[in-house]
Amino acid sequence: MSDLIRFFDGHNDLLLRLYSAPEKREEIWLGSSGAGHLDLQRMKRAGFAGGLFAIYVPSPGEGSMADFMALMAHAPFEVPLPPPIPHEKAQPVALGMAGQLYWMERAAPDDFAICRSAAAVRAALDAGRIAGVMHMEGAEAIGPDLDALYLFHALGLRSLGPVWSRPTVFGHGVPFKFPGDPDIGPGLTDRGKELVRLCNQLGIMIDLSHMNRAGFDDVARLSTAPLVATHSNVHALCRTPRNLTDRQLAQIRESSGMVGLNFSTSFLRADGMAATDMTLDPMLRHMDYLIEKLGEDHVGLGSDFDGCTLPDPIKDVTGVPTLFRALADHGYDNALLVKLARDNWLDCLDRSLKG
Ligand code: ZN
Repeated sequence: MSDLIRFFDGHNDLLLRLYSAPEKREEIWLGSSGAGHLDLQRMKRAGFAGGLFAIYVPSPGEGSMADFMALMAHAPFEVPLPPPIPHEKAQPVALGMAGQLYWMERAAPDDFAICRSAAAVRAALDAGRIAGVMHMEGAEAIGPDLDALYLFHALGLRSLGPVWSRPTVFGHGVPFKFPGDPDIGPGLTDRGKELVRLCNQLGIMIDLSHMNRAGFDDVARLSTAPLVATHSNVHALCRTPRNLTDRQLAQIRESSGMVGLNFSTSFLRADGMAATDMTLDPMLRHMDYLIEKLGEDHVGLGSDFDGCTLPDPIKDVTGVPTLFRALADHGYDNALLVKLARDNWLDCLDRSLKG
């Protein structure tokens, strides 16, 4: 396996799987059932060297991934956004999920390490451990007074999306809609602007993947850090509001930011459907486009493993080498593949995190 390309991944939802079935967590993380997209053995086999691990608080009554994807089976569609989740409800869930990340490290200390800096990520990679960086998708667990951000930062939080798609006290996200545009709803609230400033102070990367256009513009104006969309694709190729317009890609480029390619079928396919019967061709086209707009140093992976439906040729994390082979056949040389696989994310973490 000497030709295995080790990669850093901008987004996954493994913590939600663990939190949703705590009685099965040993089996999910350490077992070999092959369920879901991720487990330790498959990650090692695929070259998964590290990634952002999302804390995501589900809405009450939220159905399964299959239910959610069924709503996006045929375009046009618009899935109604759930109402805001009160801070008091969200915080214990988020703490529970942070706890799952700590449990992952305790359960496999030789193979997995929670990392709080770019240097720690590099050290874990050198030691052959998977680097886990704590991310939060939707800031409901941070109260309006922001004090909990210090707490989560102390726990290891280094990346934060002020919103998943449902609204928070900080801002507004984009709906799951096709076709659709991210130019919908108002920008950041005053608290949202304060959240951005505090993230900058603490060295917490701000993730724009679910943010609407007005909020994105506010972050672009206010933030002193690179603009990052951890798991989004190209709006010109797939017209979902979750994808980035040319204008947003230009803003990201200007800030020396980063985009992670999302593997979700519904953000790749030109028809916006969640159907999995597709070739890797759309992934190559999104990658080409991102590189054309951002340059070779600002694009990476943001799989959305365990939070999306994948193209049939990918299937789970063990399909990533297939993607690299397809990119190589498409004309990408090894130096570029290594940038896309991990070096660009590592450099972005260097620019975004403190210490
Ligand atoms: Zn997401």
